[in-house]
Amino acid sequence: MGATIARRRLLAGPTAAALAALVPPAWAQSAFPSKRWVNVVFTPTGARYADRYFWDGVYSMSAVREFSWTCRDYRANEWKWIHPWLMDLVFVLHWKYNRNLISIFSGYRSPQTNAQIEGAALNSQHTRAMALDIHIPDIDNEAVARDLKAILYGGTGMYPGRGFTHFDFGPLRSWTG
Ligand SMILES: [Zn+2]
Repeated sequence: MGATIARRRLLAGPTAAALAALVPPAWAQSAFPSKRWVNVVFTPTGARYADRYFWDGVYSMSAVREFSWTCRDYRANEWKWIHPWLMDLVFVLHWKYNRNLISIFSGYRSPQTNAQIEGAALNSQHTRAMALDIHIPDIDNEAVARDLKAILYGGTGMYPGRGFTHFDFGPLRSWTG
């Protein structure tokens, strides 16, 4: 019973609602796609993750784990489960911007690593594995931040000149770094 409830919450959580305005009309009629994939490069290491991670109504834990390892704290060589809603958002961004490959600048950061990063918030959602810094090839990061702000119930950070956009599933807020 507990597992059923947890699964339902994962499937029908804020992401699905938040993304409703962004998905193609066909998806609105047939529901959010039952097969989902992401294709990313983790720029600090150059590592790639390109695979499906959701099918038959459930997240593949081995896929989420592999994605999490790809986006790990490479400085400390530590990983933590990345929240799969972040993968759903990346999945939608592939469609939204018609880009096959999305760059991830930062995923999980251990508190120790986070404390060493200039300008990083002490309680950064990166330390909870609830945040990603991304760049979509040839797309202006500020435009991505604007779009995210309109659909994401979470945090959106703009970092002019730094080459990425931050998003997380923490409290609703936005800022310019
Ligand atoms: Zn960030």
